[in-house]
Amino acid sequence: MIETTAAVLHGVGDLRIETRLVPPPGPHEVLIRVAACGVCGSDAIEAGRGRVLADPPVTLGHEFAGTVEAVGDAVRDLPVGGVVVSGAGIACGTCRPCRARRTNLCESYHTIGFHRDGALAGHVVVPASTVYDASHVGLAWDTLALAQPMAIAVHAVRRSGLRAGDKAVVLGVGGIGAFITHVAAALGAEVLAVARHQDKIDLARGLGAARGVLSGEAELAAHLAEIGWEPAVFFETSGSAAGLASIIDAAGRGSTIVPVGIQREPSTLSLGAISLNEIAIIGTVAHVFAQDVPEAVRLLAARADWSDVAGTVLPLSEVADGALAPLLEGRATQTKSIVDPWASAPRPAIHGRVR
Ligand SMILES: [Zn+2]
Ligand SMILES: [Zn+2]
Repeated sequence: MIETTAAVLHGVGDLRIETRLVPPPGPHEVLIRVAACGVCGSDAIEAGRGRVLADPPVTLGHEFAGTVEAVGDAVRDLPVGGVVVSGAGIACGTCRPCRARRTNLCESYHTIGFHRDGALAGHVVVPASTVYDASHVGLAWDTLALAQPMAIAVHAVRRSGLRAGDKAVVLGVGGIGAFITHVAAALGAEVLAVARHQDKIDLARGLGAARGVLSGEAELAAHLAEIGWEPAVFFETSGSAAGLASIIDAAGRGSTIVPVGIQREPSTLSLGAISLNEIAIIGTVAHVFAQDVPEAVRLLAARADWSDVAGTVLPLSEVADGALAPLLEGRATQTKSIVDPWASAPRPAIHGRVR
Protein backbone atom coordinates (compact mmCIF):
# COMPACT_ATOMS: atom_id res chain seq x y z
CA MET A 1 0.00 0.00 0.00
CA ILE A 2 1.13 3.55 -0.67
CA GLU A 3 -0.35 6.71 0.77
CA THR A 4 -1.68 9.41 -1.52
CA THR A 5 -3.40 12.76 -1.10
CA ALA A 6 -6.86 12.54 -2.66
CA ALA A 7 -10.13 14.45 -3.17
CA VAL A 8 -12.55 12.01 -1.55
CA LEU A 9 -16.32 12.37 -1.86
CA HIS A 10 -18.01 11.35 1.38
CA GLY A 11 -21.51 12.54 0.50
CA VAL A 12 -23.41 15.50 -0.91
CA GLY A 13 -21.40 18.68 -0.36
CA ASP A 14 -18.74 16.75 1.53
CA LEU A 15 -15.55 16.56 -0.51
CA ARG A 16 -12.47 16.16 1.66
CA ILE A 17 -8.79 16.38 0.78
CA GLU A 18 -7.30 13.56 2.80
CA THR A 19 -4.74 10.80 2.83
CA ARG A 20 -5.96 7.62 1.22
CA LEU A 21 -4.29 4.23 0.78
CA VAL A 22 -3.63 2.97 -2.75
CA PRO A 23 -3.35 -0.81 -2.98
CA PRO A 24 -0.67 -2.53 -5.10
CA PRO A 25 -1.97 -3.35 -8.60
CA GLY A 26 -3.76 -6.68 -9.01
CA PRO A 27 -2.74 -9.07 -11.84
CA HIS A 28 -4.64 -7.09 -14.52
CA GLU A 29 -4.14 -3.63 -13.02
CA VAL A 30 -1.62 -0.79 -13.20
CA LEU A 31 -0.42 1.78 -10.68
CA ILE A 32 -0.32 5.26 -12.19
CA ARG A 33 1.31 8.44 -10.95
CA VAL A 34 -1.34 11.00 -11.92
CA ALA A 35 -0.02 14.11 -13.68
CA ALA A 36 -3.30 15.86 -14.55
CA CYS A 37 -6.97 15.09 -14.09
CA GLY A 38 -9.99 16.86 -15.59
CA VAL A 39 -13.22 17.60 -13.76
CA CYS A 40 -16.61 17.60 -15.48
CA GLY A 41 -20.32 18.14 -14.91
CA SER A 42 -20.78 14.55 -13.74
CA ASP A 43 -18.29 15.13 -10.90
CA ALA A 44 -20.08 18.36 -10.00
CA ILE A 45 -23.48 16.65 -9.88
CA GLU A 46 -22.18 13.79 -7.72
CA ALA A 47 -20.47 16.16 -5.32
CA GLY A 48 -23.09 18.87 -5.17
CA ARG A 49 -26.49 17.37 -5.82
CA GLY A 50 -26.45 13.80 -4.80
CA ARG A 51 -25.73 10.33 -5.74
CA VAL A 52 -26.41 9.17 -9.28
CA LEU A 53 -23.31 7.11 -9.96
CA ALA A 54 -20.90 7.35 -7.08
CA ASP A 55 -20.45 4.95 -4.18
CA PRO A 56 -19.02 7.16 -1.38
CA PRO A 57 -16.54 7.34 0.13
CA VAL A 58 -14.75 7.42 -3.20
CA THR A 59 -11.90 9.40 -4.73
CA LEU A 60 -13.31 11.32 -7.71
CA GLY A 61 -11.50 11.75 -11.03
CA HIS A 62 -12.01 9.86 -14.29
CA GLU A 63 -10.38 12.14 -16.93
CA PHE A 64 -6.69 11.70 -16.26
CA ALA A 65 -3.21 11.28 -17.68
CA GLY A 66 -0.15 9.96 -15.92
CA THR A 67 2.85 7.66 -15.86
CA VAL A 68 2.72 3.90 -15.30
CA GLU A 69 4.69 3.15 -12.11
CA ALA A 70 3.95 -0.55 -11.65
CA VAL A 71 2.05 -3.25 -13.51
CA GLY A 72 0.32 -6.44 -12.40
CA ASP A 73 1.72 -9.88 -13.28
CA ALA A 74 -0.69 -10.42 -16.18
CA VAL A 75 -0.17 -7.02 -17.83
CA ARG A 76 1.89 -7.46 -21.00
CA ASP A 77 1.38 -4.40 -23.18
CA LEU A 78 1.90 -1.43 -20.84
CA PRO A 79 5.52 -0.63 -19.98
CA VAL A 80 6.56 0.94 -16.68
CA GLY A 81 7.24 4.59 -17.51
CA GLY A 82 4.58 4.62 -20.24
CA VAL A 83 2.48 7.76 -20.67
CA VAL A 84 -1.19 6.82 -20.45
CA VAL A 85 -4.61 8.42 -20.67
CA SER A 86 -7.77 7.18 -19.05
CA GLY A 87 -10.84 5.77 -20.73
CA ALA A 88 -12.54 5.54 -17.31
CA GLY A 89 -15.21 2.96 -18.18
CA ILE A 90 -14.71 -0.64 -17.08
CA ALA A 91 -16.30 -3.26 -19.34
CA CYS A 92 -16.37 -7.02 -18.74
CA GLY A 93 -15.36 -7.98 -22.28
CA THR A 94 -17.59 -11.06 -22.40
CA CYS A 95 -21.27 -9.99 -22.29
CA ARG A 96 -23.34 -9.59 -25.47
CA PRO A 97 -22.68 -5.83 -26.04
CA CYS A 98 -18.97 -6.32 -25.24
CA ARG A 99 -18.76 -9.17 -27.78
CA ALA A 100 -20.35 -6.82 -30.33
CA ARG A 101 -17.56 -4.31 -29.47
CA ARG A 102 -20.04 -1.92 -27.86
CA THR A 103 -18.15 -1.92 -24.59
CA ASN A 104 -19.83 1.31 -23.45
CA LEU A 105 -23.08 -0.67 -23.23
CA CYS A 106 -21.52 -3.47 -21.13
CA GLU A 107 -24.06 -5.08 -18.81
CA SER A 108 -21.74 -4.48 -15.86
CA TYR A 109 -20.30 -1.14 -17.00
CA HIS A 110 -18.86 0.90 -14.17
CA THR A 111 -16.59 3.90 -13.97
CA ILE A 112 -13.32 4.86 -12.33
CA GLY A 113 -13.81 7.86 -10.08
CA PHE A 114 -17.42 7.01 -9.26
CA HIS A 115 -17.64 3.29 -8.52
CA ARG A 116 -14.03 2.86 -7.45
CA ASP A 117 -11.28 5.29 -6.48
CA GLY A 118 -10.30 7.71 -9.23
CA ALA A 119 -7.48 10.05 -10.10
CA LEU A 120 -8.05 13.30 -8.21
CA ALA A 121 -5.08 11.99 -6.26
CA GLY A 122 -1.33 11.57 -6.57
CA HIS A 123 -1.69 7.90 -7.46
CA VAL A 124 -4.44 5.62 -8.72
CA VAL A 125 -4.76 1.89 -9.45
CA VAL A 126 -6.93 1.00 -12.45
CA PRO A 127 -7.51 -1.99 -14.76
CA ALA A 128 -4.89 -1.96 -17.53
CA SER A 129 -7.75 -2.30 -20.04
CA THR A 130 -8.98 1.22 -19.18
CA VAL A 131 -5.85 3.14 -20.10
CA TYR A 132 -4.36 3.91 -23.52
CA ASP A 133 -0.61 4.18 -24.07
CA ALA A 134 -0.12 7.66 -25.55
CA SER A 135 3.68 7.71 -25.17
CA HIS A 136 4.14 8.06 -28.95
CA VAL A 137 2.37 11.44 -29.32
CA GLY A 138 4.56 13.46 -26.93
CA LEU A 139 1.71 15.67 -25.74
CA ALA A 140 1.76 17.72 -22.54
CA TRP A 141 -0.05 16.32 -19.50
CA ASP A 142 -2.67 19.05 -19.47
CA THR A 143 -3.57 18.29 -23.09
CA LEU A 144 -3.66 14.53 -22.46
CA ALA A 145 -6.09 15.06 -19.57
CA LEU A 146 -8.61 16.16 -22.22
CA ALA A 147 -8.59 12.74 -23.94
CA GLN A 148 -11.53 11.15 -22.11
CA PRO A 149 -14.06 13.95 -22.74
CA MET A 150 -12.72 14.25 -26.29
CA ALA A 151 -13.41 10.52 -26.76
CA ILE A 152 -17.04 11.12 -25.77
CA ALA A 153 -17.25 13.71 -28.55
CA VAL A 154 -15.55 11.36 -31.03
CA HIS A 155 -18.13 8.71 -30.17
CA ALA A 156 -21.09 11.08 -30.54
CA VAL A 157 -19.88 12.25 -33.95
CA ARG A 158 -19.22 8.68 -35.09
CA ARG A 159 -22.72 7.63 -33.96
CA SER A 160 -24.21 10.51 -35.96
CA GLY A 161 -22.86 9.36 -39.33
CA LEU A 162 -21.63 12.92 -40.05
CA ARG A 163 -19.41 13.12 -43.14
CA ALA A 164 -16.97 15.59 -44.67
CA GLY A 165 -18.83 18.35 -46.47
CA ASP A 166 -21.98 17.95 -44.36
CA LYS A 167 -23.41 20.80 -42.35
CA ALA A 168 -23.87 20.29 -38.62
CA VAL A 169 -25.40 22.28 -35.77
CA VAL A 170 -23.85 22.02 -32.30
CA LEU A 171 -26.16 23.49 -29.67
CA GLY A 172 -24.25 24.31 -26.49
CA VAL A 173 -20.50 24.97 -26.29
CA GLY A 174 -19.72 23.54 -22.85
CA GLY A 175 -17.18 20.77 -22.20
CA ILE A 176 -18.65 18.25 -24.63
CA GLY A 177 -20.08 20.75 -27.13
CA ALA A 178 -16.66 22.34 -27.57
CA PHE A 179 -15.05 18.98 -28.30
CA ILE A 180 -17.87 17.95 -30.68
CA THR A 181 -17.30 21.20 -32.58
CA HIS A 182 -13.62 20.34 -32.95
CA VAL A 183 -14.26 16.71 -33.96
CA ALA A 184 -16.92 17.65 -36.53
CA ALA A 185 -14.82 20.46 -38.02
CA ALA A 186 -11.71 18.26 -38.14
CA LEU A 187 -13.77 15.70 -40.05
CA GLY A 188 -14.45 18.34 -42.70
CA ALA A 189 -18.00 19.24 -41.72
CA GLU A 190 -19.25 22.83 -41.66
CA VAL A 191 -20.33 23.59 -38.11
CA LEU A 192 -22.81 26.17 -36.84
CA ALA A 193 -22.41 26.63 -33.08
CA VAL A 194 -25.34 27.84 -30.98
CA ALA A 195 -24.50 29.30 -27.57
CA ARG A 196 -25.86 31.73 -25.04
CA HIS A 197 -22.80 33.97 -24.81
CA GLN A 198 -20.52 35.54 -27.40
CA ASP A 199 -17.35 34.20 -25.72
CA LYS A 200 -18.62 30.65 -26.33
CA ILE A 201 -19.27 31.47 -29.99
CA ASP A 202 -15.71 32.82 -30.20
CA LEU A 203 -14.40 29.63 -28.62
CA ALA A 204 -16.35 27.49 -31.11
CA ARG A 205 -14.95 29.55 -34.01
CA GLY A 206 -11.46 28.93 -32.65
CA LEU A 207 -12.24 25.20 -32.58
CA GLY A 208 -13.18 25.25 -36.25
CA ALA A 209 -16.87 26.24 -36.36
CA ALA A 210 -17.72 28.05 -39.59
CA ARG A 211 -20.53 30.04 -38.02
CA GLY A 212 -22.08 30.90 -34.69
CA VAL A 213 -25.39 32.25 -33.47
CA LEU A 214 -26.53 33.41 -30.04
CA SER A 215 -29.42 31.25 -28.87
CA GLY A 216 -31.49 34.19 -27.61
CA GLU A 217 -31.06 36.07 -30.87
CA ALA A 218 -33.21 34.04 -33.24
CA GLU A 219 -35.20 30.84 -33.41
CA LEU A 220 -32.88 28.17 -34.77
CA ALA A 221 -35.33 27.15 -37.52
CA ALA A 222 -35.76 30.74 -38.64
CA HIS A 223 -32.02 31.38 -38.55
CA LEU A 224 -31.26 28.31 -40.66
CA ALA A 225 -33.91 29.34 -43.20
CA GLU A 226 -32.44 32.82 -43.34
CA ILE A 227 -28.90 31.63 -44.08
CA GLY A 228 -30.09 28.83 -46.36
CA TRP A 229 -28.64 26.02 -44.26
CA GLU A 230 -29.91 22.43 -44.29
CA PRO A 231 -27.83 20.60 -41.67
CA ALA A 232 -27.37 16.85 -41.91
CA VAL A 233 -26.84 16.48 -38.16
CA PHE A 234 -27.93 18.36 -35.04
CA PHE A 235 -26.05 17.79 -31.76
CA GLU A 236 -27.91 18.88 -28.63
CA THR A 237 -25.35 19.13 -25.82
CA SER A 238 -27.08 21.38 -23.27
CA GLY A 239 -29.50 18.74 -21.99
CA SER A 240 -32.20 21.40 -21.86
CA ALA A 241 -35.74 20.70 -23.04
CA ALA A 242 -35.80 24.06 -24.84
CA GLY A 243 -32.61 23.21 -26.71
CA LEU A 244 -33.99 19.90 -27.92
CA ALA A 245 -37.34 21.46 -28.85
CA SER A 246 -35.61 24.11 -30.99
CA ILE A 247 -33.68 21.38 -32.79
CA ILE A 248 -36.75 19.23 -33.42
CA ASP A 249 -38.44 22.31 -34.80
CA ALA A 250 -35.48 23.03 -37.09
CA ALA A 251 -34.63 19.49 -38.25
CA GLY A 252 -35.28 19.11 -41.96
CA ARG A 253 -36.01 16.08 -44.14
CA GLY A 254 -33.58 13.23 -43.74
CA SER A 255 -31.60 14.84 -40.95
CA THR A 256 -30.23 13.27 -37.79
CA ILE A 257 -30.66 14.50 -34.22
CA VAL A 258 -28.18 13.41 -31.54
CA PRO A 259 -29.33 14.25 -28.00
CA VAL A 260 -25.92 14.21 -26.31
CA GLY A 261 -26.94 16.13 -23.20
CA ILE A 262 -29.17 13.93 -21.07
CA GLN A 263 -32.77 15.13 -20.98
CA ARG A 264 -34.10 14.90 -17.43
CA GLU A 265 -37.76 15.51 -18.28
CA PRO A 266 -39.97 13.50 -20.66
CA SER A 267 -40.67 15.49 -23.82
CA THR A 268 -43.64 15.62 -26.13
CA LEU A 269 -42.44 14.82 -29.61
CA SER A 270 -44.57 15.03 -32.70
CA LEU A 271 -43.47 11.66 -33.98
CA GLY A 272 -45.57 12.08 -37.11
CA ALA A 273 -43.11 14.64 -38.43
CA ILE A 274 -40.20 12.39 -37.45
CA SER A 275 -41.73 9.57 -39.56
CA LEU A 276 -42.76 11.66 -42.53
CA ASN A 277 -39.42 13.47 -42.72
CA GLU A 278 -37.34 10.35 -42.04
CA ILE A 279 -35.55 12.05 -39.16
CA ALA A 280 -33.21 9.82 -37.17
CA ILE A 281 -32.82 10.32 -33.42
CA ILE A 282 -29.61 8.65 -32.26
CA GLY A 283 -28.53 8.04 -28.68
CA THR A 284 -24.92 8.21 -27.57
CA VAL A 285 -23.26 7.44 -24.26
CA ALA A 286 -19.65 7.51 -23.08
CA HIS A 287 -17.28 6.06 -25.70
CA VAL A 288 -15.98 2.78 -27.08
CA PHE A 289 -12.49 2.68 -25.61
CA ALA A 290 -10.72 0.75 -28.39
CA GLN A 291 -11.99 3.03 -31.16
CA ASP A 292 -12.67 6.41 -29.65
CA VAL A 293 -9.79 6.99 -27.21
CA PRO A 294 -6.96 6.58 -29.79
CA GLU A 295 -8.84 8.89 -32.16
CA ALA A 296 -9.32 11.42 -29.35
CA VAL A 297 -5.55 11.52 -28.70
CA ARG A 298 -4.91 11.94 -32.42
CA LEU A 299 -7.33 14.88 -32.56
CA LEU A 300 -5.77 16.52 -29.48
CA ALA A 301 -2.38 16.35 -31.20
CA ALA A 302 -3.85 18.01 -34.32
CA ARG A 303 -4.20 21.35 -32.52
CA ALA A 304 -1.19 23.14 -30.99
CA ASP A 305 -2.79 24.95 -28.07
CA TRP A 306 -5.84 24.10 -25.96
CA SER A 307 -5.48 27.03 -23.54
CA ASP A 308 -8.78 28.46 -24.78
CA VAL A 309 -10.52 25.29 -23.52
CA ALA A 310 -8.43 24.73 -20.39
CA GLY A 311 -6.17 27.63 -19.48
CA THR A 312 -5.60 27.29 -15.74
CA VAL A 313 -4.69 24.19 -13.74
CA LEU A 314 -5.81 23.97 -10.12
CA PRO A 315 -4.32 22.24 -7.06
CA LEU A 316 -6.38 19.55 -5.29
CA SER A 317 -7.26 21.98 -2.49
CA GLU A 318 -9.24 24.12 -4.96
CA VAL A 319 -11.29 21.35 -6.60
CA ALA A 320 -14.48 22.00 -4.62
CA ASP A 321 -14.60 25.81 -4.76
CA GLY A 322 -12.65 26.40 -7.97
CA ALA A 323 -14.04 23.68 -10.22
CA LEU A 324 -17.04 21.72 -8.90
CA ALA A 325 -19.15 24.56 -7.48
CA PRO A 326 -18.76 26.85 -10.55
CA LEU A 327 -19.72 23.92 -12.83
CA LEU A 328 -22.81 23.11 -10.78
CA GLU A 329 -23.89 26.74 -10.60
CA GLY A 330 -23.31 27.40 -14.30
CA ARG A 331 -20.65 30.09 -13.63
CA ALA A 332 -17.54 28.19 -14.71
CA THR A 333 -15.15 30.53 -16.49
CA GLN A 334 -13.15 27.71 -18.05
CA THR A 335 -14.65 25.25 -20.50
CA LYS A 336 -12.64 22.45 -18.87
CA SER A 337 -11.15 22.45 -15.39
CA ILE A 338 -7.94 20.50 -14.92
CA VAL A 339 -6.32 19.58 -11.62
CA ASP A 340 -2.63 18.90 -10.98
CA PRO A 341 -2.54 16.75 -7.82
CA TRP A 342 1.10 17.74 -7.20
CA ALA A 343 0.58 21.51 -7.50
CA SER A 344 0.27 23.68 -4.40
CA ALA A 345 -1.17 26.71 -6.22
CA PRO A 346 -2.99 27.40 -9.52
CA ARG A 347 -0.71 27.48 -12.56
CA PRO A 348 -1.11 28.19 -16.29
CA ALA A 349 -1.88 25.08 -18.34
CA ILE A 350 0.85 23.65 -20.55
CA HIS A 351 -0.34 22.34 -23.93
CA GLY A 352 1.09 20.93 -27.11
CA ARG A 353 4.01 18.65 -27.87
CA VAL A 354 6.59 18.60 -25.09
CA ARG A 355 8.27 15.21 -25.29
ZN1 LIG B 1 -16.20 13.52 -17.25
ZN1 LIG C 1 -19.57 -6.51 -20.86
